[in-house]
Amino acid sequence: MSLVQQLARTAATMAKGHLVTLRELFRKPMTIHYPDEPVPHPVGFRSIPVLKVNEESGKLNCTACGLCARSCPPAIIFVESFIGEDGRRKQWPAKFDLDLSRCMVCNLCVEACPFDALEMSEDAELSAYTIEDLYFTMDELAALWKTSRSVRIAGGQKV
Ligand code: SF4
Ligand code: SF4
Repeated sequence: MSLVQQLARTAATMAKGHLVTLRELFRKPMTIHYPDEPVPHPVGFRSIPVLKVNEESGKLNCTACGLCARSCPPAIIFVESFIGEDGRRKQWPAKFDLDLSRCMVCNLCVEACPFDALEMSEDAELSAYTIEDLYFTMDELAALWKTSRSVRIAGGQKV
């Protein structure tokens, strides 16, 4: 390739690059000023399983059956039934803890729950400075359900 041809090719390539820059100058910026502006999430986005509270009774739907804990691949749900004064197990939890630091947000626990007691929160603002702060207790999971938007996905469908 002659010198003239090389120069012509370089000039054409530069012109092409500048045209792209010029076109972008007039395009509306897509920058989102997070955290001042919220980042939109797609429908069905999920962050952490949360405990549903029955709006009429104010109690958890959870019966402490433990199916979610048994379905959780990394085994990070810790459920214990309430034991009554008669020494018998009651159908509500005394403990329901979740270690979010190891959660895969796979939704299997929600799918496994037969009592409509779990949903996946859409709250993406759960980062923490220490790993201990990613350990959620029953009351915290219920509070998160009340304060964040959450979604129940079963069989791949939002229900
Ligand atoms: S979303 Fe998956 S990993 Fe997280 S608690 Fe539920 S089953 Fe376990
Ligand atoms: S959340 Fe559902 S599956 Fe898990 S212990 Fe409670 S009732 Fe059972």
